[in-house]
Formats: sequence, structure tokens, C-alpha cells
Amino acid sequence: MREELHDRVRVFLADHDPATTERTQFLRARYDAGLAWVHFPIGLGGLGLDQALQPEVDRLFREAGAPDNRPGANTIGLGMAGPTILAYGTDAQKDRFLRPLWTAEEIWCQLFSEPGAGSDLANVATRAVRDGDEWVVNGQKVWTSGAHNARFAILVARTDPGLPKHHGLTYFLCDMTDPGVDVRPLRQITGEAEFNEVFLTDVRIPDDQRLGEVGEGWKVANATLNNERVSIGKAADRESGMVGVVARTWRERPELRTPELHDRLLRLWVDAEVARLTGARLRQKLSLGQPGPEGSAMKLSFARIAQQLSGLELELLGEEGLRYSDWTLVRPANVDFTGRDAGYRYLRAKGNSIEGGTSEILRNIVAERVLGLPGEHRVDKDIPWKESAK
Ligand SMILES: Cc1cc2nc3c(=O)[nH]c(=O)nc-3n(C[C@H](O)[C@H](O)[C@H](O)COP(=O)(O)OP(=O)(O)OC[C@H]3O[C@@H](n4cnc5c(N)ncnc54)[C@H](O)[C@@H]3O)c2cc1C
Repeated sequence: MREELHDRVRVFLADHDPATTERTQFLRARYDAGLAWVHFPIGLGGLGLDQALQPEVDRLFREAGAPDNRPGANTIGLGMAGPTILAYGTDAQKDRFLRPLWTAEEIWCQLFSEPGAGSDLANVATRAVRDGDEWVVNGQKVWTSGAHNARFAILVARTDPGLPKHHGLTYFLCDMTDPGVDVRPLRQITGEAEFNEVFLTDVRIPDDQRLGEVGEGWKVANATLNNERVSIGKAADRESGMVGVVARTWRERPELRTPELHDRLLRLWVDAEVARLTGARLRQKLSLGQPGPEGSAMKLSFARIAQQLSGLELELLGEEGLRYSDWTLVRPANVDFTGRDAGYRYLRAKGNSIEGGTSEILRNIVAERVLGLPGEHRVDKDIPWKESAK
């Protein structure tokens, strides 16, 4: 199978020279050839193969100088919206959304968190009220990464406040260019505005952009969150990401070394390798179905290691590492850990233990759903959402 797949890629590259084929045409053709995400079904960018083969395909394209599909700018589309649409979408939704999502012609964002619904996502107050073939949506979202670049959003809204909080939710695909969608930047600790507040005022979403059944939004959102945690924690190659940057500085700058830092770096290098290999195993499991709560453990490790590594890097570099002079407001399309300086990495890594679920919540998930320990006491589980304390 591996050889056959390599042949397919070789034939594709012979027919579509990356040096002369226009970027979008190249990406569309790659999708149509089933070489986008090989584990997706035939006709939807894939070949129905084992997901473990994907890194090889990506490597062959990279080595041939092929254009990428802006994975850094479309993390939410590729890592979260795509797999959720595949799992819960109608055939028409899969045909409409997956191809431009994969080619990055359409960037996606995630309208989940609200001022009163972050860790307790089932508490969302944004309302969607049915009006014929449409839903009218009103509410406020917050911390929406990349909303300023996004064409579409995955959205969780409350469709029945009379039901307990997990049951009255529905999941939608929201067109960010629709009237009533207002995106406002929020400045982060790094000085950049990578995320936003999003206000939704009488936004009309056609019913055919509902994903899953009415009232099943919690189930669909959980599929997204499990994918999110696998996606955030992933590192494909040894010494990729933060550990690679710090290890490189260590090798190139012997004058900065101390025995104590050496010891800490070695421990973190081993931790990073364990997390990377755990991620590889998780992705193999993924090829058998939707990810389980184990992805939470990996995301938890990723956040801890990233914060410890960025702290160690600052100590290694001393005053040089503390330089951070440019506070101009910029609106980046992606988080660039490796291409930026140590000060940026240190500040941005703070968000790692919050975004995609805080470390406290992930520990609860690991305790309850992986280790089977007794659950947290939940007082509002069975009462109608509208009657719960806000
Ligand atoms: C950089 C960044 C990007 C983000 N991007 C997006 C995005 O694109 N889309 C989106 O929808 N959201 C996004 N978020 C939001 C993120 O998912 C939430 O911030 C997160 O889920 C935490 O929710 P909260 O901020 O409301 O904190 P709260 O839920 O108010 O929690 C505050 C603190 O209390 C702790 N806590 C709460 N409940 C418990 C409990 N039961 N047990 C133990 N501790 C608890 C939390 O862990 C945390 O430390 C982003 C956040 C960041 C930092």
C-alpha cells in the first residue's frame, strides 16, 4: 500500500509540476486526486487509507516544493471543522465545505467560547431561534482566534433554554460575511490581536447549515473538542516545535550552558519526545474512529512542556532573551513559535494552558474519563438551563 501511494504521488507530481502550476489549482487537483487527507473517503480528498500514511504523503509533497494549504492559518478548519463536518455533515455539506476548507480558499474559526461559557462550554447563552428555513442567531462570543481572516465558523448556540444545558444546544456552520456578524480585535499578552470578540445580531443561518440534529450540539461539539486537543498537541518530527528551537540554541551557543540548564533541557527533551510519540500513537488510533478523551492528556503535556521550555530558553539567553521591543498591534494569521524570538515564545506559551481547554479541565477529563475516578459534583446537570444560576 505504501509503495502504491508513493507511486500515486509521483504520478501526480509529474502531471502537476509544483514550480509551474498555480497554487490554488495545484491544491484543488491534489484534493481531487485523494491526496489531501488520505484517510478521508474517496471523493472527499482522500483514499480511505490509514491516517498513519498522511505524514509520508505530506513529506513527499514538501520535498517536491509543493505549495502548502496554510496549515498555520487554518488550524481550526483543518484540525476541527474538517473532521467534524466529515463525521456529522450531510453529503451536500461535505461537498460544499471540505474542498475549499482543505485548499485554504476558505479559512475557518470557532465560535464556541462566551463570557459565561469557557470551561463550562455547555453554558452558552447565544440563542438560535427557528424562523422557517432559517435560524436567527443573537449573542456574544469571545477569544475567537482568526475570526478576522475567517470565511466560515463552527458555532454552538442554544436552541431550547427549557432543557438542561447539555440538551438544548445545536451546532451550526456560520458564514462570517453575513450581515449581523461583527468581529472586534482583542489584544493579547504578546501585544498582538490574534483573537477577537464576535457579536452576532440577528444573523440568519439557513437550516441546511445546521450540523447534526437539533438539540445534538453538545455531541457534535465534543467531537470537535476531542479533535482540537489532538490537533493542538501534535508534533510530527523529532525536535520540531519549541524543543527544536531551544536545542538548536544550546548546540550553537556553548557559552550559555550551565550544568543545571543542561539537566533541565535533557529532561524536557525526553518529555517532548514522549509527548510526540504518544501523539503518533493517538493519531493511529484516530484512524479507527473519532478521538477519545486521551487526546486531553496529550494537550495537557504539550502545554506544560511548551511553557517550561520557553521559560528555560529565557534563562539560557539571559538579558538577550528579555528583549521585546515591538508592541505594535498586529493581526497575525497564525501562531509562529519557531520563527519568532524567545520573548514572544515565552509570552505566547502562557495561552497554551488556556486555549483548547484549560489544564485544570483537562486534568478533570483525564481523571474522570480515562482513569475512571469519581466525577465532579454537578449541580445544574438535570435542571432546565433557563432556571440555572448564571
Ligand atoms: C490564545 C487563545 C485562543 C483561543 N481561541 C479560541 C477560539 O478560537 N474559539 C473559542 O471558542 N475559544 C477560544 N479560546 C477560549 C478558551 O477555550 C477558553 O478561554 C477556555 O476554555 C477557558 O475558559 P474561560 O476563559 O471562560 O475560563 P473559565 O472557565 O472562567 O476558567 C477560569 C479558571 O477556572 C478554572 N476552572 C473552571 N472550572 C473548573 C473546574 N470545574 N475545575 C477546576 N478548575 C476549573 C479554569 O481552568 C481556569 O483556570 C481561546 C483562548 C486562548 C487563551
